[in-house]
Amino acid sequence: MTLAVTLVQDLTAAGFVALGLAIAYRWYRERGRAQGKLALGLIALGTVAALGRVPSSVPLSVLLIVLFMLSGFFVLLFRNEFIPLGRTAYRAAWVLLGVSILVGILDVVALQHASPVVVSAAGFLLITSWSIFTGEPTFRFWVASNALPAVQKARMRFLSLGFAVLIVILFVDVLGGGALQSPSAVIVTQLLALSVVPLIYVSFAPPPLLRRIWRMGEENELRAAMQDLLIFSPNREDLADRAVFWAVRLLGATSGFITDANGQVVASVGIDADRAANLVSSQAEARAQIVQAPVHMAEGQGSLAVVGGRFTPLFGSDEISQLRAYANSVSAGLERARVTERLAAIEEHKTQFLNLASHELRGPVTVIRGYVSMLEGGLLGNLNQRGRKAVGVMAAKVSEMNELIEEMIEAARLEEGGLTLRTVEADLRDVAQSAAATVAALVDVQHRIVMDLPERRVRVNVDPDRTRTIIANLLSNAIKYSPAGGEITCQVRARAGVARVAVTDEGLGIAKEHMPTLFTRFGRVITPQTEHLKGTGLGLFLGRQLARMQGGDITVASVEGKGSTFTLQLPVAGAAEPVSAGPVGAPGSDGELGVAERPIATRATR
Ligand code: ADP
Repeated sequence: MTLAVTLVQDLTAAGFVALGLAIAYRWYRERGRAQGKLALGLIALGTVAALGRVPSSVPLSVLLIVLFMLSGFFVLLFRNEFIPLGRTAYRAAWVLLGVSILVGILDVVALQHASPVVVSAAGFLLITSWSIFTGEPTFRFWVASNALPAVQKARMRFLSLGFAVLIVILFVDVLGGGALQSPSAVIVTQLLALSVVPLIYVSFAPPPLLRRIWRMGEENELRAAMQDLLIFSPNREDLADRAVFWAVRLLGATSGFITDANGQVVASVGIDADRAANLVSSQAEARAQIVQAPVHMAEGQGSLAVVGGRFTPLFGSDEISQLRAYANSVSAGLERARVTERLAAIEEHKTQFLNLASHELRGPVTVIRGYVSMLEGGLLGNLNQRGRKAVGVMAAKVSEMNELIEEMIEAARLEEGGLTLRTVEADLRDVAQSAAATVAALVDVQHRIVMDLPERRVRVNVDPDRTRTIIANLLSNAIKYSPAGGEITCQVRARAGVARVAVTDEGLGIAKEHMPTLFTRFGRVITPQTEHLKGTGLGLFLGRQLARMQGGDITVASVEGKGSTFTLQLPVAGAAEPVSAGPVGAPGSDGELGVAERPIATRATR
């Protein structure tokens, strides 16, 4: 049994010596100041374990006591690096160290023959001091670990657990007295002490596999957050900030930052921008605790860096490849945010331009219109025939210009939410007729507009002027986009509470892929056939918005090369059901009419 006891004691001592050596080696490679304190404490503990197995002598005992007290004191110093001690506590700790070492030496040198009570009291003081040096940090680390990323948390807890077990063993050993001197009790306590070795080693230098396991839970959360981050971040600054936060969390680091192509810090967490910039420009040694991964930005290659702290594991290849992958996603997210920002800025500029141009142009055009109409009316004197012809052309062009300006003003109003409708009950047939009249001037020999109207009124509650504009725009588009000519039908129908005006042409038609563009602001489809045609891309945008404001919509059905049908839908006045923006068939196909409406047999042809 005694052999077994000796063996276990040797084994435990060897374990602590190995721990001390391993930590000395790692520390030699990494040289962190804070970690150095912990390393010194553990090396001292390993040395105590080794010397404890050597036959005792007075100088050796003195050395043992000094090293033992220092092993505890260094843990407190390590804690001081991580969570600074108050000044008084710091001084008190030094005093306690001095007193303990003194009492310990006295115990060895002078109290050899003193009563057992005195000897025990001296031993108790030593163990209590050591327990304070290590116990206080143990408790602190455990509490602090709650707020830390998974990797740091686990490391802190392993360290705390290791020292807690050591403290318990020491106290049980001293207080338990004779009861714990039995060989089996010694074997148990020794084995328990031995179990502390891997705990502490792992907390000091966790292997990659363990780091990955610790991170696993957090990674799922991270993945979800990352998706959020990359898709929903409103702008680049926000995205960069959040990206750094998660990078720090992901690697269990303490701080991190993103720099742009010029080395400027664009986002940082846990570190101020100046210090981050210093770190980037400093020498390799200071950068040992930094991992960087390239981030591709529009302006060039920047970088995402995370900085290890006092309690960060040295980053291994696992962390580096993880950060690289993460940085790639961040690059994609930043690019998306940049494009979104640019688009928003462009939209903003368009609105500003619309506003400014339309209002600035309106005044002069009104004046010109006034003079042109005076010229036409002969108020400024008689014109010869050529003059009258020129004035006619001028009048047509000025009125075209005026329409354009009105369209721009309307779009600007819509953007600003300042558009109000003057809704009255109207007959959609009349509105369609007057729309056709406004485009009459555009109809040439190649085109024919056929009005297909029902016999009965089609009552709608609408802003008649705006509705006329919508239909007129559909008609003028039908003319404009059928350059080879053809028939244009304007069919008015009402069915199941929905009134429809369908404008069908035999023109160019629209390819499927261009459909999404049609109703966007300034959305124009530019093809070799249409590039020479003038337009703003505002007509359909405005039309749809105005239709929607009136409870309706505009839909389109088109076959490229064959022609298109644009259908304005509006709710029939007094109908219970609101208009649904469902698919609309080609005009003529819905021969059935609701609410006692019947098509008239006559077709008005222009
Ligand atoms: P604009 O005619 O001023 O360009 P719109 O908003 O009225 O602007 O129309 C947007 C685009 O939709 C047009 O540029 C054209 O490409 C397409 N489009 C509109 N109506 C027709 C049509 N009847 N046939 C073919 N393409 C059309």
